[in-house]
Amino acid sequence: MHAIEQREAEFETEGGLQVNGLLLEDAPVVLKEAAASEACSLDNYLVMPDESMDARIAAAREKLGADAIILGHHYQRDEVIRFADFTGDSYKLSKAAAETHAKYMVFCGVHFMAETADVLAQPWQQVILPDLNAGCSMADMAEIGQVEDCWESLERLGETGGAGIIPLTYMNSAANIKAFCGERGGLVCTSSNARAAFEWAFARAGKILFLPDQHLGRNTAFAMGIPLSEMVVWDPYQINGGVAPERLRAAKVILWKGHCSVHQRFLPEHVDRVRREEPGMQVVVHPECRWEVCQKADALGSTERIIDLIERAPEGSSFAVGTEIHLVNRLAKRFAPLGKRVITLDESGCLCTTMYRISPQHLAWTLENLSDGHVVNRIRVDEQVKHWARVALDRMLEVGR
Ligand code: SF4
Repeated sequence: MHAIEQREAEFETEGGLQVNGLLLEDAPVVLKEAAASEACSLDNYLVMPDESMDARIAAAREKLGADAIILGHHYQRDEVIRFADFTGDSYKLSKAAAETHAKYMVFCGVHFMAETADVLAQPWQQVILPDLNAGCSMADMAEIGQVEDCWESLERLGETGGAGIIPLTYMNSAANIKAFCGERGGLVCTSSNARAAFEWAFARAGKILFLPDQHLGRNTAFAMGIPLSEMVVWDPYQINGGVAPERLRAAKVILWKGHCSVHQRFLPEHVDRVRREEPGMQVVVHPECRWEVCQKADALGSTERIIDLIERAPEGSSFAVGTEIHLVNRLAKRFAPLGKRVITLDESGCLCTTMYRISPQHLAWTLENLSDGHVVNRIRVDEQVKHWARVALDRMLEVGR
């Protein structure tokens, strides 16, 4: 039997829960040969201390061998990311997900990332999110019904006809938002390739609807020479987005009113403080930060670019970094022995609480169940949504970095 057919034959899917076009499988997908036993309960793990999980995670990982890979986003905590086979930002991880041949992808990240991995996965691969409550506040700010209403309003204004407008969504969005863009000639971008995606879109249309992060959209467009006066913000809770029709017609970029609750906490006064108290220190921020912060920074970049910048800097360099605190702390530890100093831009430390939900207990529970033949917390995107989301993601992979 062909390898792929063999893998397909190994699984028997039990019923799942359909939510917003997604099939969330809390109920385990059971390997036939293990169907007689039951998945172990997460509650038994949650009462155990973190450090007691290490040996169990390592043992389950070893038992699974090449059947499973663990993908870890840079914002994951140390106790979890140390077990990742691949670490990276969402672009790097989505490429790794598309290229792996493992049967199971355990995604230590948030919901939209696991969905993306499922969209890019082969039919015989399964994606697991160790905690289904690990969402993303930014992704939740653009719901499909709201986006469809916005598009209808733009249609009524005559903005969507011909090559009028291209919808472009940040990776940090639900699969159905990605599909919405794919179906309407648009694409997905990450913070690494937002500019390339904007250039791709402007080569085909005069206007972009950018979802869901207004800050990444504004920072990208501004860096391309588009003045703020040619951008408008669409508020899904206002009639017609709260924007007058003549302003919508004149705009080159329509920014969805969404943001990252972590990066939005960095403020211009944080940059001022560093300038005052740490002369010579470079300020590097993620483009999900507000425009005012980005304007004051020395450099902007995705997490991968921030790491690269610090890596290439000469000994004695120092950086105040505006991104999630787990990554900043890890960079501080990694580069201190090389004579480079890394601090957080905001002393109160900006933590992504949803990323933090993936604990060693969740990872151990997931892996031990897998190694016992039970797939728990599988993320599965509806086939129709998957098709168009894939179109939008393929366009992104074509655009490249
Ligand atoms: S850091 Fe912000 S954008 Fe990233 S997962 Fe957390 S809430 Fe979402």
